[in-house]
Amino acid sequence: MSWASVYGQEHAKSLLMRAIRNRQLAHAYLFWGIEGSGKDALAFALARAVNCESGGPELCLECTSCRISDPLRHPNIHFVCPLPQGKNEKAGDDPVGVLSSEELETVKEQLRLKGANPYHTIQIERAQFIKLNSIRSLKRESALTEYGSGRNVFIISNADAMNEEASNALLKTLEEPPGKSLIILTSSWKERLRETIVSRCQMIHLEPLPESEIRRYLVEREDAKEANAELIAVLSEGSISAARGLLRHDILGMRSGAIGFLRLALTNRRGALMHAIEETVVSGGKPGVEQFLRVLHQWLRDALILRDRGPEGIHDVGDRADLERFTQRFPEADLIGALNRVDRAIALVGKNVYLSLLLTNLAIELRADLTAQRRS
Ligand SMILES: [Zn+2]
Repeated sequence: MSWASVYGQEHAKSLLMRAIRNRQLAHAYLFWGIEGSGKDALAFALARAVNCESGGPELCLECTSCRISDPLRHPNIHFVCPLPQGKNEKAGDDPVGVLSSEELETVKEQLRLKGANPYHTIQIERAQFIKLNSIRSLKRESALTEYGSGRNVFIISNADAMNEEASNALLKTLEEPPGKSLIILTSSWKERLRETIVSRCQMIHLEPLPESEIRRYLVEREDAKEANAELIAVLSEGSISAARGLLRHDILGMRSGAIGFLRLALTNRRGALMHAIEETVVSGGKPGVEQFLRVLHQWLRDALILRDRGPEGIHDVGDRADLERFTQRFPEADLIGALNRVDRAIALVGKNVYLSLLLTNLAIELRADLTAQRRS
């Protein structure tokens, strides 16, 4: 897991590489940005770089450190994340040792997945907080000598999940940074961190990822088909976590569903339209309807681009013929108005509205917008 396995984030990467080169690394960093922007991935890359015997910042890929492929099996890389509270857990207990054997299995499996793919979102039941005992054991380990010529790196993932006691303990560690240790906090909710902690870290912001990087991730790491990756990338709003969540949905299928919905709305086939709407609502619930509306929005946007600017820039996912037919048949359609309507419907899904009615009204409004005659 090297710098190259971090998608996008060129600015953050070059900043850190330069700091290594100039021997100006801080003792503590806070990587912050939206969920799925690659904070943990960047933390792993930095941890590996400071442990490469070549001195970095590039990995030599040949030294003992570089040859350990799973960063979570590296003796100098320590990973802290929220864990369940153990039964009768006391101060000073091993934070993992107190877990039930079942919980322990889950933790191991989750860490294995994280080690194999830093973009994996760890999911452990009842793991709400980063425990005081986890920070205590970090403190103990940071006093130990590092392995080889590298340095101990502590990655505190989702650092905003630290409870009060854990935050206090970490603050003390940050005030007196032990020896060569490097502490990296990652957080999607920086404002939930104590100001005193934030002020002791060098902050590095990770931007939401561009669509091209998410598409590349999906094809390279998740073996997604190009067309599907293309659509998911647009819907994930800069987050690989969101993209991974969407992989479970049939986005291409949803796009044909959206075309079907428009077709029924435009031809005013009420019975079939009601049936399609009920199906969308029943099978997907609120999240499904929202996803459906986003896909619909994307298709209408493609229609607008195709009509006004040509095929360059539309999502080429195999339904260009549908788009072309539509723009030829309704050359005067008020597509901007239609896009605004879908936007408004998306905003309403989160509120307490009757979803079937929302989609029915939308169909009626879209029919008016799309069959409109442009006023000259
Ligand atoms: Zn190396």
